[in-house]
Amino acid sequence: MKIGIFGGTFNPIHYGHLRAAEETAERLLLNKVIFVPTNITFDKKETLLEPEKRLKMINIAIKSHERFEASDIEIKRGGFSYSYDTIIQLKHIYPQDELYFIVGVDTYLGMKNWKNGKKILDIINFIIVSRACKEPDLKNLTKLKNFLPDELRNGIVSDYTENRLITSKNKLIYFLKITGLDISSTNIRNNFKNDVSNLFLLPNEVINYIINNKLYL
Ligand code: ATP
Ligand code: MG
Repeated sequence: MKIGIFGGTFNPIHYGHLRAAEETAERLLLNKVIFVPTNITFDKKETLLEPEKRLKMINIAIKSHERFEASDIEIKRGGFSYSYDTIIQLKHIYPQDELYFIVGVDTYLGMKNWKNGKKILDIINFIIVSRACKEPDLKNLTKLKNFLPDELRNGIVSDYTENRLITSKNKLIYFLKITGLDISSTNIRNNFKNDVSNLFLLPNEVINYIINNKLYL
């Protein structure tokens, strides 16, 4: 099976995430996408909503989508959430499967600061999706290569037909330009705080959960 792993704070999940997962799954023929909300994130300064509530909203949002799943492994592990640890864990859970780690391009550009950021690209395939208004040109493989950690740039091969790079460890890094939805959880949280409509930015059921539980006030 080809499995996409989509990590994030999902504070809250919105149509930008859902559409990215859907387009990625369809175009790269992923059998499923697993959403993995963080427990605590080391680079998020604002107070995060409790992880269980963020997971609950994911489950509400993906309820009727067979291809989508949510995982509580980062929450169960506790403490700070590092993608490296999650990937190692998932590789043990799915030893026979082809795993793809999905990130938005803003996340990709910040990877140099991650724990084991360089190692991660050696152990799992990557899918980098565009984010409206935030991208460098995702068709420019030569430029994208320059954002990789120095050690990794050597020995990498550009595969222009698939718009992907092939690392010296034979892992794939895909760059996908997807439908640009300029939606962010930060804007959504601000809208809730300021009593501004969030309709059509995230599923209605999630909006109702947020209102009923008086979140993001
Ligand atoms: P925040 O504003 O709190 O940072 P966010 O909207 O960026 O929230 P995250 O939970 O930080 O959402 O993102 C999880 C992953 O989804 C990241 O890899 C991010 O790049 C990607 N992502 C988020 N929003 C979009 C979007 N609108 N289109 C494509 N990818 C997105
Ligand atoms: Mg973000």
